[in-house]
Amino acid sequence: MRILTTVVALLLLPLAASAESRLLHAGKVIDVDNATVRVDQVIAVTDGKIQSVLPYSQQAFAGKVLEDWTAFTVAPGFMDMHTHLSGDIQFADTEAYLRAKPEDDVLIGANNARKTLEAGFTTVRDVGSYNAFTDVALRNAIAKGWIPGPRMFVAGAYITVPGGGGEVSGLIDTARIPARMRVGVAKGEREVSAKTRLLLDNGVDWIKMIVTGAVLTDGTQVNQSEYSETEVRAAVETAGKRGHFVTAHAHGAQGIKNAVRGGVRSIEHASLIDDEGIALAKAKGTWLVMDIYNGDYIDTVGRAQGWSAESLQKNLDTTEAQRIGFTKALKAGVHLAYGTDAGVYPHGDNAKQFPYMVRYGMSPMQAIQAATIESARLLQQSQQLGSLQAGKTADLVAMACNPIEDISCTAQVYWVMKDGNIYPGKAQHEKH
Ligand SMILES: [Zn+2]
Repeated sequence: MRILTTVVALLLLPLAASAESRLLHAGKVIDVDNATVRVDQVIAVTDGKIQSVLPYSQQAFAGKVLEDWTAFTVAPGFMDMHTHLSGDIQFADTEAYLRAKPEDDVLIGANNARKTLEAGFTTVRDVGSYNAFTDVALRNAIAKGWIPGPRMFVAGAYITVPGGGGEVSGLIDTARIPARMRVGVAKGEREVSAKTRLLLDNGVDWIKMIVTGAVLTDGTQVNQSEYSETEVRAAVETAGKRGHFVTAHAHGAQGIKNAVRGGVRSIEHASLIDDEGIALAKAKGTWLVMDIYNGDYIDTVGRAQGWSAESLQKNLDTTEAQRIGFTKALKAGVHLAYGTDAGVYPHGDNAKQFPYMVRYGMSPMQAIQAATIESARLLQQSQQLGSLQAGKTADLVAMACNPIEDISCTAQVYWVMKDGNIYPGKAQHEKH
């Protein structure tokens, strides 16, 4: 009943009500900075920023309306460091990629962005689009408030060798692939630097470099290194001069080491990482973004949909190994951020990885920290994002139960706030 009243009240309000102050009376608040849960708190939000988080007994209300969120546990907005929002999953039909139009991909992306936000993910790092720069258009439209979606940090396209893991397919004659899907193709240090500059000139935030073959790119091998340490360094130094970072897609143990030694800020997948690679990542402070949920999705839904036998086999070769590597890296104290490869599985299911991270060794608090403050640190945005602190951006999620007690509560998102604006969460849609 209380929830219903709030729904009606919100429907009467314009969504862009960030200029006004809000007081949210939360039953529980997850403090990721101090790894603790605080009960009976009031979160004050003004102009899209958190003004204060104080115990209910200490908050001065001054006649302001208190929104009753006492039934909810509130966490900082979740952050997914590995998504592909623009375009559609086409792994059952690689040829369909060649027909994908950029204008369609952006609009498909708008739909995916809304689903992602409703799942409680207020920030994503979107690590590559086949149709180059569709993610830049999507990021800008969200930032301007034209469409609902998470704050995006985008890569624009893949820096990949000809026929490499970042191509639409390693088996299709490249002459048949539209040029807009090969914008980041580069071989050798000079070309890598030139393509890095080209992507940055087109407004990307991050450089995504495909350093080994990929599970879902036929004709490439996950254990095969496609770039050397010096080629990686060329991208890292070129991007670094303009204040940007590189993240490396790498499955194989050698490719991971090439990327870490080359100076990337993070490694995506890191499936076959060995002890030396873990020690190296630890020593250099490199983040690992290990997508330990989606292997199960590929093996069930992908298999049922007839994804290629090669992809399904490579998925089996990497899934369990990656989970073992995740546990080892966690024990070694390597930085681990939350990244799921959304786009391989349907958008809006991003929270499905939380229980996997707990199953493979994290406490629920650690898993939530990975998806909030740790991801904010990876992005070098922890001054603005990642925790519920005065002065930070008002990004938060309200869940129907406490994920510290039951991690699956991360999928029970009732309300999402981004930049101080409130959106109904996924759990409300599922109820109706
Ligand atoms: Zn990916």
